[in-house]
Amino acid sequence: MEEGTENYQFCTLFQFPFCTLFRIVMDLASIILPGVTPTRPTVIAGPCSAETEEQVLSTAREVAAQGVKLFRAGIWKPRTKPGGFEGVGVMGLDWLKRVKRETGMYIVTEVACKDHVYEALHAGIDMLWLGARTSVNPFAVQEIADALRGVDVPILVKNPINPDLELWIGVIERLYAAGIRRIGVIHRGFSSYDKKMYRNPPMWHIPIELRRRIPKLPFFCDPSHIAGKRDRVALIAQQAMDLQFDGLVIETHCNPDAAMSDAAQQITPDMLECLLSRLVVRNMDIPSQYLSELRYRIDQIDENLLELLARRMQLSIELGEYKKANNMPILQTYRYSEIIERRAEFGETLDLEPNFVREVMQEIHEESIRRQMNVMNH
Ligand code: PEP
Ligand code: MN
Repeated sequence: MEEGTENYQFCTLFQFPFCTLFRIVMDLASIILPGVTPTRPTVIAGPCSAETEEQVLSTAREVAAQGVKLFRAGIWKPRTKPGGFEGVGVMGLDWLKRVKRETGMYIVTEVACKDHVYEALHAGIDMLWLGARTSVNPFAVQEIADALRGVDVPILVKNPINPDLELWIGVIERLYAAGIRRIGVIHRGFSSYDKKMYRNPPMWHIPIELRRRIPKLPFFCDPSHIAGKRDRVALIAQQAMDLQFDGLVIETHCNPDAAMSDAAQQITPDMLECLLSRLVVRNMDIPSQYLSELRYRIDQIDENLLELLARRMQLSIELGEYKKANNMPILQTYRYSEIIERRAEFGETLDLEPNFVREVMQEIHEESIRRQMNVMNH
């Protein structure tokens, strides 16, 4: 087990008040910049990369006209492969300064090493973000955290490309330990071999779990990098709103088809306007009798499910004892396939997604095997 992970599993915050996570939960400061009203969603829009002064300025003018207050553009681009467009570098910072002067928007960019931090701060960048390829690398994160000591600039942490919540939290801890308190996160999906549906599947349960652990963190969603295709960006933005994200980071380009990076997922300022106007921001929490009743019924069903599961596991133990007494192996493959497939079919007659049923049954079966192993090896 990685050092410190046991803390998280048992640290239901208030039982272990001195763990780092607890301090982070209590101590975080607001990332809101003066003049930006904290209504949901806070929108950060702008191109994937700053390419030319013209492109940056014309995109900025159009998004500013829609009331966007935070403008993003990548100056240094961490590309998966060499030979791609790796950003214009420091000269792009002057273009961003111009955006700030001319439109009044705050400017936001990505930093991936200490030199980027120094250059960005020197240029008066208002907010920074750590990219997914940086969040995976504790050395780079530490270097950036050290470079930011004593600086009061909000920083947003993108999730690491791999679905590893502890690694994501590790970034927050490193920044926190360097004295940084104005921290937020950006969920941009997780890398996957299968890119049919999404470029980076959202695996929503991971940011949801992060929010459960650190409720005070401002949560942004980057639907552009999750979707990978511009016609899916709005749908994911809506899902993020329905999951109570606070903000959206949306790649917006005045001429997306000609973009030098992430062309397929960038939208035009007009599309951004349309997306934002159609976004349904549902009310946070309206207590109602009906909702409480539904939740009560769900609680009852969950308890029944757990009681049934406990009975099933008891049978697994008996099964283990029988197999041990009769010198049988734990796993009979035909039986395993039968359980999974027959339950998936049965589930379908009850209107349950076969894949969902398969996954649930796999988990249950795994636990059953674990119980039987305990019996066998006791
Ligand atoms: C980006 O925001 O353009 C970017 C490089 O994102 P990510 O780190 O999420 O891949
Ligand atoms: Mn991008």
